[in-house]
Amino acid sequence: MEMQQPKQRQRSVQRLRCSVMNYDWGKKGRDSVVGRLCASNSHFEIDQEKPYAEMWMGTHDSGLSFLIDQDLNNSNTTTGASPSLNDWIFSNPNDMLGHKVVQKWGSSDLPFLFEVQSVAKALSIQAHPDKELAKALHKSMPNIYMDDNYKPEMALALTHFQALCGYITFEELKKVIGNVPEIEEMVGSEVTNQVLRMTKEDWEDKVKSVLRLAFTQLMSTSMEMITTITTKLKCRLHTGSQVRQLTEKEQLVLQLEKQYPNDVGVISAFFLNYVKLDPGEALCLGANEPHAYISGDCIECMATSDNVVRAGLTPKHRDIKTLCSMLTYNQGLPDILRGFAVNSHVTRYIPPFEEFEVDRFHLPNGESTEFPAVPGPSIFVATLGKGSIFTSNGDHAIIEGDVLFAPAHTDISITSTSELHIYRAGVNSTFLAS
Ligand code: ZN
Repeated sequence: MEMQQPKQRQRSVQRLRCSVMNYDWGKKGRDSVVGRLCASNSHFEIDQEKPYAEMWMGTHDSGLSFLIDQDLNNSNTTTGASPSLNDWIFSNPNDMLGHKVVQKWGSSDLPFLFEVQSVAKALSIQAHPDKELAKALHKSMPNIYMDDNYKPEMALALTHFQALCGYITFEELKKVIGNVPEIEEMVGSEVTNQVLRMTKEDWEDKVKSVLRLAFTQLMSTSMEMITTITTKLKCRLHTGSQVRQLTEKEQLVLQLEKQYPNDVGVISAFFLNYVKLDPGEALCLGANEPHAYISGDCIECMATSDNVVRAGLTPKHRDIKTLCSMLTYNQGLPDILRGFAVNSHVTRYIPPFEEFEVDRFHLPNGESTEFPAVPGPSIFVATLGKGSIFTSNGDHAIIEGDVLFAPAHTDISITSTSELHIYRAGVNSTFLAS
């Protein structure tokens, strides 16, 4: 018996204790989904004054997950020596990740990083480099760009979720320039006229290069001028609001100005799409697309990386030159994913990235569903309610905040004893099937 135990444990589902990030943009105290889940996951008291921004589930060095010892004789205790998920996977990568995943992404990390986010105030305007640029940035500025991997991401709304994402179309941009005189002050009349002269007949490349010029000018405005112009903009909108209904974008700009006074990111919001997700809708962000999350709670999944190039709405390091030169300058609304039904309780979201996909399990009280084995690893997080997860190696009672790692080739069934919400991240099934 003694000899068999380690091997059996290696193939079984493991409970994880996960890392919480207390960035200042996070929702505070019990208002934060992240706060509630992490407090339950790691058994701490919630501090009502403290922001709980992100819960990280995976193998990224900046936010490790640890196995919680679940030996029967030792139930619910965390021993001092609990291994990290990284060590656990590395002890037996082929069983944990599956051969195909090991072949593609190596034997130490999960290809994806799974997160819950609770956003109270806007995150920085940012983009994530593609694979090639990520390598180059890491090489030239390793203290700023600590990862050499790219970071496509997908945000799946848990509550109403708002974001800025990608550029508006040039027809919209022309209107904006007409309505927001402060933009011309920042980018100059020559560039403004170039934008206004663009027509539908212009080549995509030309439109992109003019947009790039205008955005780069805007983002490169001197600090002094930004202060003057944002003050002017604020006064104009406040006066305007007494005689007319401000547009949604104008209202957003005032909200951002309150959060980040005198920040170039406030005015740059006029260039970006204002996207609102209902719960259950997801936004996919490829490399080099500008975005900023504004408010709400979401499940986020991404390739394992923390590579961010920031340019506004942040007290952190800004790299405007890199950001403006890396962006695709694609225009128009981003695709919103609504997922497809795997069965009556499970919705699957497949982004156009090989590293990950997300499943949403919504079970009313007293229902069950199966998750048939896949040849890749999975992480499950319960965000609401309670129930049980059954595998051939044992049963696990689950409540909100519980996080489980399932090795490749694990058959799972889930039963609810109240309304139960679970999210699963796994390797993209299109990749696994190919
Ligand atoms: Zn991002």
